[in-house]
Amino acid sequence: MSEQREFQAEVSRLLDIVANALYSEKEIFLRELISNASDACDRLRYEAIAKPELMAGDTELKIRVSFDTGARTLKVSDNGTGMSKEELIKNLGTIAHSGTREMINALEGDKKGVNLIGQFGVGFYSAFMVADKVEVLSRKAGDKTAWLWVSDGKGSYTVDEHLKDSHGTEITLHLKDAASEYLLEERLKQVIKKYSDHISFPILLGDADKAVMVNKGSALWMRPKADITPEQYKEFYHHVSGAMTMDQPWLTMHWRAEGAFEYNNLLFVPGMKPFDLYDPRRHHGVKLYVRRVFITDGVEGLIPPFLRFLKGVVDSEDLPLNISREMLQNNPMIAKMSAAITRKVLGELQEKAEKEPAAFEQFWALFGPVLKEGLYDAHSYREALCRVVRFYSSQAEGLVSLEEYVARMKDGQENIYYLSVGDLQTARNSPQLEAFKAKGIEVLFMTDTIDEFWLPIQGDFRGKKFKSVTRGSTELSKIAPDKTAEEKPTQGNIDLNEKLVARLREILAGEVKDVCLSERLVDSPVCLVAPENDVDIHMQRLLKKSQGYEAVHHHVLEINDRHPVIVKLKNMVANDASAEVIADTAFLLLDQARIIEGEPLKNPAEFVRRMSLAIEHGLAG
Ligand code: ADP
Repeated sequence: MSEQREFQAEVSRLLDIVANALYSEKEIFLRELISNASDACDRLRYEAIAKPELMAGDTELKIRVSFDTGARTLKVSDNGTGMSKEELIKNLGTIAHSGTREMINALEGDKKGVNLIGQFGVGFYSAFMVADKVEVLSRKAGDKTAWLWVSDGKGSYTVDEHLKDSHGTEITLHLKDAASEYLLEERLKQVIKKYSDHISFPILLGDADKAVMVNKGSALWMRPKADITPEQYKEFYHHVSGAMTMDQPWLTMHWRAEGAFEYNNLLFVPGMKPFDLYDPRRHHGVKLYVRRVFITDGVEGLIPPFLRFLKGVVDSEDLPLNISREMLQNNPMIAKMSAAITRKVLGELQEKAEKEPAAFEQFWALFGPVLKEGLYDAHSYREALCRVVRFYSSQAEGLVSLEEYVARMKDGQENIYYLSVGDLQTARNSPQLEAFKAKGIEVLFMTDTIDEFWLPIQGDFRGKKFKSVTRGSTELSKIAPDKTAEEKPTQGNIDLNEKLVARLREILAGEVKDVCLSERLVDSPVCLVAPENDVDIHMQRLLKKSQGYEAVHHHVLEINDRHPVIVKLKNMVANDASAEVIADTAFLLLDQARIIEGEPLKNPAEFVRRMSLAIEHGLAG
């Protein structure tokens, strides 16, 4: 009597969606099953290097698709690594991928025929789109016992001991009435060619005695570029990366490296952001092969962390086949390949950035912050990275390169100015930029958290230092002096300014570190900056947010002595106007500077009281 097991809740929900899918491209189930079979063959080939006995008597790895019109069954079998009882239960009864819950929610939300299934790719479970009963007979290589997993996809399944001659997996689909087309040889051939031509193992169609090989059966990355269609690259990308079908590769790089070492590379930059891009446990998505034998995923040291979004294959001609995964990590050959691959990829990215800036903007939005991590921790690629990194700026609509920035610098400008801020909108409205804008000096916007880490250690670019516009003095007066800067205040003005500054220092003593006249303001009355040797304002906020670290950084309040409000305030101070009104105005100005900086108000109730009074006076006046 076989024991019934329940599917994990997520699997049941997923199966329910899959079984009722009105999705028109149900044919993708075959792609998913063949893809799994190919992975199983890859795994066995690797395991058999150390233990040749695993392949016992069945060494030609292959995948077979066969059908029985009378019984209305379709079989997909492989002689790969197979599954033990435990593996059957774990792999076909639960879902391991962490993105799955979101996927299921998205699928359930799409009532009109679940068009998203094909885009997500639901793996093995897609068999239930065309079958109302699925049997998986599997024997793990090295094991004597085989197991039969059976389910109608309705909440439960059974696993029983069974007979099977050799290792591998045989999946039998009992086709639904509406899926009769998958009993036609021509239709099957068409689907296999469409989605699985790139598979490196032979895919045989038909029964053992009269089967025909449908695909080329050679590794795609070894074939000449001219023989590969964009569709084949795309299908391979999905196969190798497990990416969703709607994720089209943004960049495909296929080349052969020759010289001291030979290796073939087929690498992709995804068109969508992997959901776990910032998960510290995540590896890069490049698989290492040695002479067509799959060795392992995500070898540390093969792809630097700042390129961890890459997917694809690197196939070495020189590494020993029997290299253990542990030995790979500090292997000098891997390090050399890594350096060459990294330079090649950075070169390709640079070319894309220069030749197709609009397309590059899409890439940059997804992976720019990851690439910038290299400026922080990959010193040897710094120059190459500096040619690829791009920034939004106060002067351009699109992205700007450091080279372009330097070429546009004003006479007398010695620094690369940047504004570090949470988002572009705030950046563009920043009062600290006003004088820079008035003088036509470009300011780069640093909106990524990582910017706060690489900037302080960056040193310079082409001899120009990076300088924050919200910290310390701007040295603006030295650059392209213009009329506003030359308007020297008269003696009387100097006195009034000094008096106001002294008064504000007194009033705001506990709130700010200092008050001073501003060089950077044109239209706004006030702004906050960080003292020269202190941490930048944006960094202070990041530290507070990410580490709960609240240091007693006090900002400097800068005032614009030409602004009408400040001019009035100066006169009030000179004329001994009401101390209370002056103090209220001082606090209002400080709060205003905080608001535009995106900082919370310390005392909203007081702000509102002062604001109401000010409005009242304004209306009365
Ligand atoms: P995915 O392939 O994305 O991991 P699937 O649902 O398609 O998800 O498969 C789940 C797991 O079941 C696979 O990761 C693999 O370990 C195992 N599996 C599926 N098909 C086979 C097969 N033909 N041979 C061996 N293992 C398999």
